[in-house]
Amino acid sequence: SYKASLEAAASFLNEHDHFLVVNHVNPDGDATGSLLAMKWILHRLGKQATLVNEGETPVKFMFLPGADEIIDASVQAERHTYDAIITCDCADFARIGEVKMWFAPNCALLNIDHHPTNDLFGTVNLVRTDAAATAEIIFDLINHIQLVPGKELATCLYTGLLTDTGGFRYSNTTSHVMAAASELLGYGVEPGSIAERVLESITKAHISLLQRSLQTLQLTDDDKAAYLTVTLSDLTATGASSEDTEGIVNYGRNIDGVEVGVLFKEVAEDQIKVSFRSRSEVDVASIAKSLGGGGHIRAAGCTVAAPLMEAKRIVIQKVSEALRECGDKS
Ligand code: 5GP
Ligand code: MN
Ligand code: MN
Repeated sequence: SYKASLEAAASFLNEHDHFLVVNHVNPDGDATGSLLAMKWILHRLGKQATLVNEGETPVKFMFLPGADEIIDASVQAERHTYDAIITCDCADFARIGEVKMWFAPNCALLNIDHHPTNDLFGTVNLVRTDAAATAEIIFDLINHIQLVPGKELATCLYTGLLTDTGGFRYSNTTSHVMAAASELLGYGVEPGSIAERVLESITKAHISLLQRSLQTLQLTDDDKAAYLTVTLSDLTATGASSEDTEGIVNYGRNIDGVEVGVLFKEVAEDQIKVSFRSRSEVDVASIAKSLGGGGHIRAAGCTVAAPLMEAKRIVIQKVSEALRECGDKS
């Protein structure tokens, strides 16, 4: 049961002294907020935490308390050093990226996550797939161990809730989410300032990239699917970083009548990162999973190892199939 997994997670925190806390590659607000929340919890328990991520933490999350302590594994390498690991917001082992090199053989691993595609790769798994965010599960954990958060911890958790619910708008915005957010506000969280930083600020590079990618918009004849593309040369020309593509996929999905929005992002010549969003019918997690990725029913992703044209062909075929199946049912 979930309660038993909270208990097992609490024991895991008790049983070790120094933890390596890691989130997923290309971290979002939930991943970074959860990573930092675990640091605050561990410190309160008198434990040590090393925080690591493959790649840089996005600039817009650098206001989170403790964010400057997160080590970039693509800059600093360690080999088999840590034997107590906590993963936050990682659906499967591959999402950890190069940080896996930091793990000692036979390490103990606590997997804290909310993705329906989580494959329970931990030695202890604290996974609740109806949670809106990993931050919501960590909120449950602090209640379970009866730890009263300070403003820092509350800010980290609130940011995870805010970003993974799209600003408390998506269908995962449950009464439990709102109750948690409400309680966190009671600890001094500044909702206006956080929303301003993570939802209402865009970089110039993002706007330039958006401008270019909107020109690539392809709508299917029935308007049910919308495809957008960002190429390597778009990234170079705009000076954009990988985080600057965030949100572009929504422009496709948000068009009236569109059920599935897809963004193709060229990360290398034969490596295409694909983002999927759906409106109300298509399970994009299963499409992504069939291509080696995963995610949630309405937001998922994968990486296709093929040149752009070939990747598009493969993905468009999968999306068409899924749309046809939905059409057959209704
Ligand atoms: P995004 O499209 O914003 O990169 O990701 C949307 C959702 O899909 C997120 O919840 C993310 O965790 C998940 N996701 C994206 N890419 C991958 C992937 O390669 N593998 C898995 N398992 N999940 C992914
Ligand atoms: Mn995430
Ligand atoms: Mn999440």
